[in-house]
Amino acid sequence: MEKILNYIGGKLVEPSSGKYLDNFNPSEGKVYSLVADSDENDVNEAVRAAKQAFPSWSTMPTEERCKILLRVADLIDRDLEKLALAESIDNGKTVKLAKAVDIYRASANMKFYATAAMHFASEAHVNDGDSINYTTRMPIGVVGCISPWNLPLYLFTWKIAPALAAGCTVIGKPSELTPMTAFLFSKLCIEAGLPAGVLNIIHGLGGKAGQAIIEHTEITAISFTGGTVTGKKIAATAAPMFKKLSLELGGKNPNIVFADCDFEQTIKTSLLSSFTNQGEICLCGSRIFVERSLLDRFVSEFVKRTKELKVGDPLDSSTQLGALVSEAHLKKVLGYVSLAKEEGGKILAGGNQLKIDGRCANGYFMEPTVIVGLDEKCRTNQEEIFGPVVTIMPFDTEEEALALANSTLYGLSATIWTENLKRAHRVAHQIKSGIIWINCWLHRDLRTAFGGMKQSGVGREGGWEAIKFFTEAKNVCVKL
Ligand code: NAD
Repeated sequence: MEKILNYIGGKLVEPSSGKYLDNFNPSEGKVYSLVADSDENDVNEAVRAAKQAFPSWSTMPTEERCKILLRVADLIDRDLEKLALAESIDNGKTVKLAKAVDIYRASANMKFYATAAMHFASEAHVNDGDSINYTTRMPIGVVGCISPWNLPLYLFTWKIAPALAAGCTVIGKPSELTPMTAFLFSKLCIEAGLPAGVLNIIHGLGGKAGQAIIEHTEITAISFTGGTVTGKKIAATAAPMFKKLSLELGGKNPNIVFADCDFEQTIKTSLLSSFTNQGEICLCGSRIFVERSLLDRFVSEFVKRTKELKVGDPLDSSTQLGALVSEAHLKKVLGYVSLAKEEGGKILAGGNQLKIDGRCANGYFMEPTVIVGLDEKCRTNQEEIFGPVVTIMPFDTEEEALALANSTLYGLSATIWTENLKRAHRVAHQIKSGIIWINCWLHRDLRTAFGGMKQSGVGREGGWEAIKFFTEAKNVCVKL
């Protein structure tokens, strides 16, 4: 069976323990490869390699760094089909989505930050002819980048690309549930001539390999994307060590539909924002709030089209929802459907595990699910489910819609549907979320600040924000 190895000091190496974890194909429900079960010894080795590589990588002419990172992007483009297939097998998502979104974006991340480094500039402030301040931004050192399973290569590259472009050397850890594309990526880095030790990829469990990265005294900054509970644990370890922290955490995002919306566009996009990637996107709108005068029409059309969605073999090009990432996650999501029923919710569509014939008979599939009849305070509407499950709730006034939208501990993203321009801006202004979409969803410009408020995170990624995170500012004041 194929072994997923660590990438340390420019080489693919076995974990020091010699141990491996099972890696599942979720659409078949069976083990198809083994992933390195790394520990602190592997992390120590990786940090040694990253420290050694830092002086030459951080001082390399930016144009040279840019060229190497662009070569990696070109190789991702060359291997688009292969990587998309690997992502689909490893995660359960449809190969179509992996190709159009995950792998396309992994390459875009590399290109965006490779070229951003060429344009990054530091600031100068002139003080009335009395003094000049100039601020340098130097790469911070060896950094840790830890990513989740839902958009594996997409989110892994979203972190390591700015770190590498800024001149840092990196210890990366993809999720143990979806390690395959990061492994294939390490091979592409070798092929592209990325100098040894600049990027090191450690595979393994969060509580062991991940925790060793957080605890390592010579890793100066941590960029983490994952669950809020894990984020709290990471902050508790890293804060007393005065590590720089960027935390991109969970969400429970509102999708607010006013009666004056473009109905067809709203329904079409709300289906996507509810169920794309099996609802396993931190930005999915899991709580849909609909103005009461439109409620019946919206619910009936939304439920009808939800029932028409095709769940099935992720390799089939007509499939719209693939498998959930693991058996444990499927159980968790189904557990929330049971909870919703206990809390008085009515299931209008889905709610059940789905058995697919043939190759995928043992896969972790689930029907897309629509629930009504719950209030905003119940656990179903407060906790992140991270699966193909949405609730629909009515509202009467703009004030009520805002109160409902802001009624959770999360504040990642929100979507607003209205043709009333003034209202759109007014509502956007008052929602406590870091990312707001008006009459669209997941419309991304990589230059914009990306991240959440409240328990959805600390700090921002995207654009200059990420480059600034991976550099340290120093101000020099010159008296004239
Ligand atoms: P998770 O927190 O379980 O794991 C994320 C990563 O952290 C994995 O690589 C894991 O191995 C590692 N990890 C776990 N414990 C660790 C520890 N103690 N120390 C260091 N690393 C540790 O999250 P997940 O289940 O993989 O991903 C789903 C979550 O990610 C959801 O909550 C989702 O909302 C969130 N997410 C957020 C964003 C965002 O941009 N805000 C994007 C995608 C996913």
